[in-house]
Amino acid sequence: MSLENIKDQIRNAELTNNRQKGSVNLIAVSKVQPLERVERVLSQGHRIFGENRVQEAYQKWPAWKEKFPTVSLHLLGPLQTNKVKEVLGLFDVVHSLDRDKLARIFSENIQKLGSSPDFFIQVNTGEEEQKAGIFPAMVDKFVEQCKNTYDLPIVGLMCIPPIDEEPSLHFALLKKIAERNGLNRLSMGMSADFVSAITFGSTDVRIGSAIFGRRL
Ligand SMILES: *Cc1c(COP(=O)(O)O)cnc(C)c1O
Repeated sequence: MSLENIKDQIRNAELTNNRQKGSVNLIAVSKVQPLERVERVLSQGHRIFGENRVQEAYQKWPAWKEKFPTVSLHLLGPLQTNKVKEVLGLFDVVHSLDRDKLARIFSENIQKLGSSPDFFIQVNTGEEEQKAGIFPAMVDKFVEQCKNTYDLPIVGLMCIPPIDEEPSLHFALLKKIAERNGLNRLSMGMSADFVSAITFGSTDVRIGSAIFGRRL
């Protein structure tokens, strides 16, 4: 597959579902990919990328961001509070906000800095013990707290469905929780299920291997 092929599929899914043209953002997930694969996609004009690990992102993206200043870099992976300052130095959007302490430390640092990334709150829709994300029953309170206590720009919700379950149930659940909290954006859908995710209202699909090839 390729970038153009994926963009065509997204465009078709927008059409089929009466979604506005261009309303679904494509985040190209470049984690672990060889540099030349990422550079090829940059040279094709793509500018939205996702990484899982802060450390790895710092090895690649400062140079690319200097060369391509309109790049928007999204953090998708679980996050420790001691990485918050580094995150604020490199990332434009965070998809993995999932607990009070993290929100508080972001808030403190953002106040000093005077600028903020956009945030998605990660929801553990499958209530899996080993997975990051806040449980569905706790989301409403957490959204309220992030907005009112911590003054964070919360733009939407994010989920990673359990590997062995039908993802559409999780997409539908995430949409329902977002709607009742007045949040417009949904970060859901990966290489294997992004068309289904768009059907259920995804606004931000996170696609790695289908664009770049299998991770080596
Ligand atoms: C790796 C990763 C993706 C992309 O996965 P693919 O199956 O390669 O498309 C999307 N979201 C998150 C959170 C990831 O860690």
